[in-house]
Amino acid sequence: MKIRVGQGYDVHRLEAGRPFWLGGIQIPCDFGPVGHSDADVVCHVLCDALLGAANMRNIGYHFSDKDPRWKGVDSKLLLAEVLRMVREAGYEISNVDVTVVLQEPKLNPHIPAMKTCLAGVMAIPEEDISIKATTSEHIGFVGRSEGIAAHCVALIFRQD
Ligand code: MG
Repeated sequence: MKIRVGQGYDVHRLEAGRPFWLGGIQIPCDFGPVGHSDADVVCHVLCDALLGAANMRNIGYHFSDKDPRWKGVDSKLLLAEVLRMVREAGYEISNVDVTVVLQEPKLNPHIPAMKTCLAGVMAIPEEDISIKATTSEHIGFVGRSEGIAAHCVALIFRQD
């Protein structure tokens, strides 16, 4: 059995009046992340961790932010495509673990809905998806609510 680990990291700027997509769902908020796609950092770090684990470059390599096809795209579609690529290479997902770094709003009430949504997109059990949230104690760009960051590790395996 071949077991591989990958990690992902992503940052997006926050701006007033933007829809706040995170973990595949929309969070009620009067600001939100800015990006070429819907700027869902949880979907983006999941893509990068899974691609990294499979040694398949990164999200920007497959879905360029210069490509008009991905303008405003629902990042769940990108994540589903990454899962298709990773599975096509013979891998299955063991588990993923995401940490979102955001000063406000509080994310804990929304995490169950994110897990349910992502379990559907990724076709894995909710129990294999961990999503955690932390603040940055009012320090730095996250602490000033100028941006949102996320980290992810993913474990995948293949019978060789
Ligand atoms: Mg991103």
